[in-house]
Amino acid sequence: MRILLLSCCAPCSCAVIEKMVREGRDFAVAFYNPNIVPLAEHEKRREENLRLCKNMNVPFVELEYDNATWQAAVKGLEDEPERGRRCDVCFYMRLKRVMEYARENGFDAVASVLGVSRYKDLAQVNRAAAKASAESGVPYVEIEGRKGGMQDRRLQLIKELALYSQDYCGCRPRTKNI
Ligand code: SF4
Repeated sequence: MRILLLSCCAPCSCAVIEKMVREGRDFAVAFYNPNIVPLAEHEKRREENLRLCKNMNVPFVELEYDNATWQAAVKGLEDEPERGRRCDVCFYMRLKRVMEYARENGFDAVASVLGVSRYKDLAQVNRAAAKASAESGVPYVEIEGRKGGMQDRRLQLIKELALYSQDYCGCRPRTKNI
C-alpha cells in the first residue's frame, strides 16, 4: 500500500516518519498547510520538513499555499478556540485536498500527523479524516504518533536534528486567542 502522509511540520512528523521508514512502508510526505501565517513562517516550516525528509530519504511533495481559500473556509469562525469549529474546517480542508492529490497521483491511502501534538484533539482529526475519506473515496490510515514511546522519541529527534519548533499551531499565535 502506497501512503501519502500529510505533515504539518517537522517536529510533529519526525518520529512517525522514522517509524514508517523502519517498518519499510512505501510512502511520501505531503506538505499542504495553507493555514499557516505569516508566509515566512510557512516557508520556514516547509524548509524544515524538507530537510527532515532528505535526512530520512523520504520523498517530499509540496502542495499550493492557498491561504485566501483557507481564510474563506474559516470565515466567521475566527474567534473559535483551538480544538473548536475552526479546527474542524481546517483539518477537513487539508485532508480532503491531500486525499484528492493522492487519488490523482497513484497513492492508495492517506495518513497524517495532525493529531500528534498534545494540543490537538485526535478524535477531532479522525472525524475530519473520516468525512474527507467518505467524500474522496481515499482510505485514511491512522498511524500512532503519541503512545508507545513515540512522544519521547519525537522530543529526542527534535533535539538530535535541531529541528525548528514553533510555539503555535498555524493560524495565529497561541497566546492571543487560542
Ligand atoms: S489552530 Fe491550527 S488546526 Fe486549528 S484552525 Fe488554526 S491552524 Fe488550523
